[in-house]
Formats: sequence, structure tokens, C-alpha cells
Amino acid sequence: LMQVYQPLNILGWAYREIKQASVDLERLFQVLRLKPEVADKPGAAALDITGGAVRFSGVSFAHDGRDRSVEAIDLDIPAGAFIGFAGPSGAGKSTLLRLLFRFYDPSTGRIEIDGQNIADVTQASLRGQLGLVPQDVVLFNTSLRENLLYGRPDADEAALWDAVTRARLKAFVDSLPLGLETRVGERGLKLSGGEKQRVGLARAILRDPPILILDEATSALDSRTEAEVQAAIAEAVRGRTTLAVAHRLSTIARADRLVILDGGRIAETGTHAELLARGGLYASMWAAQIEAGEAAPAVLAPAPSV
Ligand code: ADP
Ligand code: MG
Repeated sequence: LMQVYQPLNILGWAYREIKQASVDLERLFQVLRLKPEVADKPGAAALDITGGAVRFSGVSFAHDGRDRSVEAIDLDIPAGAFIGFAGPSGAGKSTLLRLLFRFYDPSTGRIEIDGQNIADVTQASLRGQLGLVPQDVVLFNTSLRENLLYGRPDADEAALWDAVTRARLKAFVDSLPLGLETRVGERGLKLSGGEKQRVGLARAILRDPPILILDEATSALDSRTEAEVQAAIAEAVRGRTTLAVAHRLSTIARADRLVILDGGRIAETGTHAELLARGGLYASMWAAQIEAGEAAPAVLAPAPSV
């Protein structure tokens, strides 16, 4: 029995690792020939994107062996809105975003995009409309060019360089003797956390998705690089619905709406100013980051007077 169990165990581990890394899924599933937990319904139609409005209605989900990871989430996100998510580690932020990708199906409730339940459309069409910049961008052992094109293999040279430029990656590429042909990944050039995240951002920009998801996409950056990537992100989110999880609250303080999660539930929601006035979890997290010098109050709405 162990002989059978062991490889299965390893596959299970690889599958979980990949899900954690939140890479583009459909392709990796194909590569690894692993069966995802969710399946297309027979005769499922393609998602018909009209604007990119996202609605969570009574969504709950628990990972194996947990009581709850997210619970009773109601969120109505208009097309084109920029929504910032924050909250303590383990609050359910990543789980919520993964549910939108349909890595898992909610145990109760439903998630709709432009009025269509995502459980009723094909996964390929769903994921084709979602651009993701994860916390840990995965690089393949191939050229920088192929790593960038991975999100959209048919992109032309002009689109590729436009994405490289907009992701603030051009100076870095120009500094490499082999430029875009430089081999990266484990057996190639090791990129810094910030460079990897900009590759992730360039990939997403190249795909030009109507819905963009950033999961702590600036967490690996030092504050100087972060300011640059911030500018790139501010540009990239224009004209798209954006869901952005951030540890550093200055990243999302300008969002149309902030959603603060705690213990899998929405603890509070509102704009930066509203949440500061409320004096709750967000206000105390903001004050703590100002104190730690992590926030950048100069570029934002007035800091709380505490
Ligand atoms: P956040 O992104 O806010 O830090 P997560 O969504 O990653 O939070 O986690 C929410 C809860 O679900 C936590 O209790 C976490 O331990 C649990 N969790 C997350 N991913 C998994 C998983 N793959 N298996 C089991 N539990 C998980
Ligand atoms: Mg997370």
C-alpha cells in the first residue's frame, strides 16, 4: 500500500504547493495532468464579460480540517472599481481571491461575474478574464521573454515591450547583456523579489485582463522600488476591476473601498477616511504602520491624529 500511497502523497503535496503559489492554473494542471477539485458543469458556457462586476453573496468556505476560512461574505464590486483588502494574517484574504479563481467552490453562497455564477461557466473562460499577480511569482527555467509571454504567447514585440516598460522592468532588461533572451529561474539568473514581482506585473499587463487580482503584490519590495511599482500598478488598474490584498496599507489606501477581514469575516468596510473615522481595526493597523514607518502618509489622505 505504501508504494501506491507515497507517489499520491507527493502529487497531493505538489498540487497544494502550486495552489498556494497561485500560478496560472489551467496550464499547470495540463502540464502535471492533475485533476482539479472543481470541474466544469456539462455544457458549461463561456463567461460573457460585459464590464467586470464581481459579487460575492453569502460565500463561506472551510479548508480541510478547519472550521472556517471565510464566512458569510457579501460583497458587491462594481465594474472598474478598485477594492483593497487587508486584515491580519490568516484572515482569509487569499482564500477569498482563490474562490474567485474557482480553485475551490464555496460550501455555501455564490460568486458572480457580470451576473453569471462562476460555477456555471467554463474554468478556462473564467481564468482567461482574470489576471493575477501573486505574492510569489513563479519563474520557469527559460528565457525572460518566454516567462513574460507565458501569459499571452501570441503577443507581438511592441506589446511585449510596452508591458515591460509599464511594469518598470525596462532598465533591468536593458542592463542584461542578453536582454530578454537571458535565462532565468533556478538554473538561470536569480532575480530579486522585486524583479520577480515586476515580471509578474508585466505578465498581467500583457494579458490585459478585465479583472486584476493583486495578492500582496508589493510585499517583497523595498520602499523605494515599491513607490515605482505602485506607480506601475496605479496605471495598470485603470479601466479594470481590481481586487488588491496588501500588507502595506499605503498600497491600498486610495482604493474606492477597503474591505477589512478578520477571522474569515468582513470586520469593516469603507473608504480610508471612513475607516479612520470609525477608529476600528483598520485605524489601529494604520496607526501601527505609521509608527513603524511602513506607511507613506505624505502621498495619501491625512493621517489619523493619534
Ligand atoms: P490570509 O491570506 O488572510 O493570510 P488565508 O486565506 O491564506 O489568509 O487563510 C485563511 C485561513 O485558511 C487560515 O486559517 C489558513 O490557515 C487557512 N488555510 C489557507 N490555505 C489553506 C490550505 N491550503 N489548507 C488548509 N488551510 C488553509
Ligand atoms: Mg494571503
